[in-house]
Amino acid sequence: MTEFVFAPPAPHGVPVRGSSAQFPVRRVYCVGRNYAAHAREMGSDPDREPPFFFCKPADAVSYVADGTEGTFPYPQGTSNCHYEVELVVAIGKGGKGIAEADAASHVFGYALGLDMTRRDLQNESKKTGRPWETGKAFDKSAPIGPIVPVSVIGHPQKGAVTLAVNGVEKQRGDLSDLIWSVPEMVSYLSKLFELQPGDLIYSGTPEGVGPVVKGDVMLCKIEGVGELTVKVV
Ligand code: MN
Repeated sequence: MTEFVFAPPAPHGVPVRGSSAQFPVRRVYCVGRNYAAHAREMGSDPDREPPFFFCKPADAVSYVADGTEGTFPYPQGTSNCHYEVELVVAIGKGGKGIAEADAASHVFGYALGLDMTRRDLQNESKKTGRPWETGKAFDKSAPIGPIVPVSVIGHPQKGAVTLAVNGVEKQRGDLSDLIWSVPEMVSYLSKLFELQPGDLIYSGTPEGVGPVVKGDVMLCKIEGVGELTVKVV
């Protein structure tokens, strides 16, 4: 058995609905600007850009159980922290150069997630041409609900994606509005990185992103996938 100079961190797991076993998170990929109206609100042309990706560390994933109110600690270093509700794709079978037609067979399941963003730091990175990590990859920046296996929900292709803050709806889109479909994004990503079981893909957010402050409660829903309640503390 390998000896380490200190105890290595335990693998980061997300519970799977209907199972006692957890999904072990390896990498977290996120797709930028995958709904036309959100791309426009962020100042880009949705029609001409290929998908682009950034990453969060696996331990940024913060699990919220069904029917509970999770907590999101307001992060340091920002005064403009935004919510982004997203469908999360959980990869169960790895591969590179995956064809779109085969992509579905690589998906283990789906979840509801939040790509929390320090928008002020992200905007500064965009302006200066620097990487996005400080805006996107901070601790606890990726709340997530349980992973629902494909054997239970299949491959959701339509359904409302909504987020409300303190009972007021802020974001509304539909899975059918994704610019890059799940098979397209899996295929495209697998031509840049060899996907492995345990990878998560946050698939982008609809329009209506905005800031939260301590005490706010975010209620996220994706029709057919689930609900996620997270309080900012
Ligand atoms: Mn996002």
